[in-house]
Amino acid sequence: MKLYEFEGKRLLSQMNIPVPHGEVAATGEAATDIAARIGYPVVLKSQVLQGGRGKARGIRFAQDPQELAGAYAALSNLTIGREPVSQILIEEKLSIVRELYTGITVDPKSAKPLLMISLKGGVDIEQVAAEDPARIVKQPIDALALSKPFNLIPLVKRSGLDGEPMVQVANLLEKLIRCYFHFEAITAEINPLVIDDAGKLTAADAKFDIDDAALFRHPQIAAFNRSETTENPFEREARAAGVSYVRLENQGFIGIISGGAGLGMATMDAVYHHGGVPSNFLDLGHATPEKTAAALRIVLKTPGVRGVFLNAYGGINNCAEMAKGVISVIDSLKPQQSIVVKMRGHSQEEGWALLEEKNIPIVKTGTTADGIELLKHAMQNKGDWPHVDPR
Ligand code: GDP
Ligand code: MN
Repeated sequence: MKLYEFEGKRLLSQMNIPVPHGEVAATGEAATDIAARIGYPVVLKSQVLQGGRGKARGIRFAQDPQELAGAYAALSNLTIGREPVSQILIEEKLSIVRELYTGITVDPKSAKPLLMISLKGGVDIEQVAAEDPARIVKQPIDALALSKPFNLIPLVKRSGLDGEPMVQVANLLEKLIRCYFHFEAITAEINPLVIDDAGKLTAADAKFDIDDAALFRHPQIAAFNRSETTENPFEREARAAGVSYVRLENQGFIGIISGGAGLGMATMDAVYHHGGVPSNFLDLGHATPEKTAAALRIVLKTPGVRGVFLNAYGGINNCAEMAKGVISVIDSLKPQQSIVVKMRGHSQEEGWALLEEKNIPIVKTGTTADGIELLKHAMQNKGDWPHVDPR
């Protein structure tokens, strides 16, 4: 779950990382009141989930109420990417002397969280990463070894800082690491981390992505409001249905439903291996008929999907229950796409019988490869299997 800047700043603040004074406004009057409380000059910041607001003119400054009204009106008419701006964070304007970048994200290579710091922070950090990557100092985090600020000093020194700022940044990074683990983030980023004209450090921006699977342990975060427009509608529907769905690539034409995340990933690999392109990952979790039906509906309406492969093993899950879900969707939607089911395990005979009654192609004792080939033939017969360049 991605967080808005103002939500992320609340988490930072709870970990004693200094953030600017500020509040979110949803109306011009509220903005005026907030600015009066904070004191001018203020900065107005569009609250959207994507980055690049600075470059999209989503950040404005105001010296007085008149400028504030103008800036507020301009921002509230702005759409950044596909996100219309509906909330604006009003904050004290910092007197920036230096903008640093600091962030933590999961590094697939070391399979650890990777701590990053750069003196070249600010809106051009992507360009720095592409053109001058040596200016971003990185180190995988071993949670225990790095849990003391003095362990962070060498890394901060390598970034080019020295003296008092180096010690201050090391102290702050230690808090950021604790924040990252405490809230079970996948990504936590402060860009820019500002050094102001009094030498004080402040987190001027906050970008968090929290592990969805851990949200139940963080009711404060789970309760953050999300409007209809901010999330991929399919991912939103899947979340409401209790299944984990990830939209993959736009060229995908095979919808995947699996019972178990590992099987889902193996199925995706196998689909590629057979010349297909998966449109999504979907793990049913504990599969009731309702959840299976919701999963199939979501996958069927994912744009580009011309065939669906349901690949499940009935361990705790019951094959008859899953079959009931599949059938309810086929009866109500009468989908045009080809659907193949491979499932066995708990109540497999009942499940198979239900699907056979509806002439749904099934694989009983064969492999995942057999299932994909069956689907491929059905799709090729309908001219539904596009030519894909082998990768
Ligand atoms: P992003 O572009 O979406 O990452 O938005 P940021 O919150 O990082 O803001 C972009 C840029 O606006 C920063 O790099 C700063 O240069 C500037 N900025 C943001 N807040 C302030 C502030 O309080 N004072 C000043 N002077 N500049 C700010
Ligand atoms: Mn930023």
